[in-house]
Amino acid sequence: MNNHEWAARGNAVFIGTYNRFPAAMVRGSGCRLWDADGREYLDFLAGIAVCSLGHCHPAVTEAIRRQAGALVHVSNLFHTQPQIELAELLVKNSFADRVFMGNSGAEANEAAIKLARIHSGPGKFEIISLSGSFHGRTLATVAATGQPKFHQGFEPLPQGFIHAEFGDPASIEALITPQTCAILCEPLQGESGVRPLEAEYLRAIRSLCDHHGLLLIFDEVQTGLGRTGTLFAHEQLGVTPDIMTLAKALGNGLPIGAMLTTEKIAASLVVGTHASTFGGNPVAAAAAVEVLKIMLADGFLASVQKKSRYFIGRLQEVAARYPQWATGVRGRGLLLGLLLTEKGVAQGMEIVEQMFAQGALINFAGNRVLRFVPPLIVSEAEIDALVAKLCQVFDQLA
Ligand code: PLP
Repeated sequence: MNNHEWAARGNAVFIGTYNRFPAAMVRGSGCRLWDADGREYLDFLAGIAVCSLGHCHPAVTEAIRRQAGALVHVSNLFHTQPQIELAELLVKNSFADRVFMGNSGAEANEAAIKLARIHSGPGKFEIISLSGSFHGRTLATVAATGQPKFHQGFEPLPQGFIHAEFGDPASIEALITPQTCAILCEPLQGESGVRPLEAEYLRAIRSLCDHHGLLLIFDEVQTGLGRTGTLFAHEQLGVTPDIMTLAKALGNGLPIGAMLTTEKIAASLVVGTHASTFGGNPVAAAAAVEVLKIMLADGFLASVQKKSRYFIGRLQEVAARYPQWATGVRGRGLLLGLLLTEKGVAQGMEIVEQMFAQGALINFAGNRVLRFVPPLIVSEAEIDALVAKLCQVFDQLA
């Protein structure tokens, strides 16, 4: 079966929610993928910032294999070793004392929303999030998402989600009412085009929460787990949340998410208030334990920072060489965006398609930037190869 045949079969049976590249991927290793036609790709998408240790990392694969042969699922009616080890690692390496596990980013955010409401008590149910934010596709997380295009056609959305203007603390303060229970934000908005929240802005949000008795929830689904060069993005910004959500890179491709919080806040979720049949599944948790051990080993996060500096430098060169296409670089760690000019934005999808034709995978985020989220194990040679392909595409399209 080749790409074309797989695509025809898939298109005949799937509900059409995705615009897929015309390739069926069959194998992955490190920063490389291979499709059904035997074509090789340099992967700077990493399953949308998921496969941070690269495809089929041998230690993670071995952990999955071992756990799959021992025990796959028992539900949360029982304790399991991988889930406990994972929670211990998360607690030991974060501000949090307690963890709830789900299967995805949206589920982790749902848990955070429920916790913020139940902890704050009757009548305090409103959550303020930011314009341009992305928090998931379930009804509550879509309502929390500050992008109207994701709401359309699904109204009425769950109540109590209000959006403040990105970048302006006064716009948040103006929306705080006696009903407000929390402020929810990503330390760096990934989906809306790699938009970092500056440390000063986050500190202002923290003070608003402290002043008004609100919970601060950081959605680190995309920014967490080394993606920005520290284990969690908020660590380098000097602002600590009350609740944090994780998913994406946690299982390096196996579905797992987590919601973390302090002892005091966690006490509000008691037996029967929240649950997930598969949450913290032993196989996914075993993979996540391995992921964390590798990321926490000496030198891993420092290497992400070093590669980030190198990649930013290379992208700045591209922006300087192609002013007709790009105006600059933004982002942190290995969550980087090349800001496009108006001409670039108009041809954003075409650039991505041309890169695909060259055997390189990137995406066009927030209708504004080319987003690069390679596996964190990417080499400088692979960064050079990606940049060379990008220059080739800009030359061709010129
Ligand atoms: N939150 C953020 C910041 C995200 O980037 C995403 C996905 O892109 C989500 C939540 C939703 O995660 P999931 O698709 O795993 O539900």
